[in-house]
Amino acid sequence: MMKLSVVVPCFNEEAVVERFDATTRAVLGNLPVEYEICYVDDGSTDATLARLRLLAERHPNATRYISFSRNFGKEAGMLAGLREATGEAVIIMDADLQHPPELIGRMLDLYELGHDQVIARRGRDGDKPLRSALSRAYYGAVNKWVDVELADGVGDFRLLSRPVVDALLALPEYNRFSKGLFSWIGFDTVTFDYRNAAREAGQTKWRFGTLLNYGMDGLVSFNNRPLRIAIWLGITLAALAACYAVWITVDAMSNGVTLPGYVTLVAIVVGLGGVQMVMLGLIGEYIGRIYYETKKRPHFLVKERSGVPGPPQDARIRAVREGKAI
Ligand code: UDP
Ligand code: MG
Repeated sequence: MMKLSVVVPCFNEEAVVERFDATTRAVLGNLPVEYEICYVDDGSTDATLARLRLLAERHPNATRYISFSRNFGKEAGMLAGLREATGEAVIIMDADLQHPPELIGRMLDLYELGHDQVIARRGRDGDKPLRSALSRAYYGAVNKWVDVELADGVGDFRLLSRPVVDALLALPEYNRFSKGLFSWIGFDTVTFDYRNAAREAGQTKWRFGTLLNYGMDGLVSFNNRPLRIAIWLGITLAALAACYAVWITVDAMSNGVTLPGYVTLVAIVVGLGGVQMVMLGLIGEYIGRIYYETKKRPHFLVKERSGVPGPPQDARIRAVREGKAI
């Protein structure tokens, strides 16, 4: 029987993680696989970790968890989960039941047909119209710029074969933009659609600002084409300025000097200043990335993991068993 690992990054998911566990386990139990669920607690500040400890205790052979020393972000969570997973295939899922566990069977069927990456693509019903319109525009623009293909609605809900997991783990970069990495590694990929579900409970961790930053990551993570655009923009502006200077000179020679163009001057200075700032920021963005890469810091720090009971953890588990608050 093949072994399937399910990787679940959780950040403040106390409201749903138990429901997620029960639902997923029910689905997995009916499939012809051995399975393990690897939870990654991404520095939650609520009772998520306590819930995970209980789940690991309840199903010791099929559940593991690791807990980060602080919130390192979902990318780090997924990386940790992939490192932790021992299965022949790995499925990455959100803890909020927005990734329907009922689809696992379908993913396995496609895996057995020989596909290495099985992607479940969500529709956009249930999203706010503004958000879906912006997403669509973003993916339209980004795919013109970036070397790898990023598809709208394709997230982290996917099954990865062992070779794919090993390929991902072999990419050591500090700034991880998984959507791009999944696409960059290639392998035989198949996509199917599912209807988007609303979050079961708890709150989304994405605010508009985080989404904007994530979008910026997508643009600069995968190539230096934005720098190329900066060069072309500079050349174009310089050429325009040269033409304008020739025109003004010819005009002054034939008609004499007329009114001085203060407004034009100010507009040009400010406009060019703005363009230069943007370009400097862009270069800075790349340098910042180099800076982080050269530090070679770990992607995350683990403070606790299942199967390694330390004294404080034992005390906490006992407290929960005895019905005391933690
Ligand atoms: N998540 C995480 N670390 C974070 C933010 C989110 O591990 O810093 C997890 C979260 O617990 C959930 C998944 O990533 O399992 C997706 O998060 P969320 O549902 O908030 O995103 P959305 O579905 O709204 O895009
Ligand atoms: Mg969600």
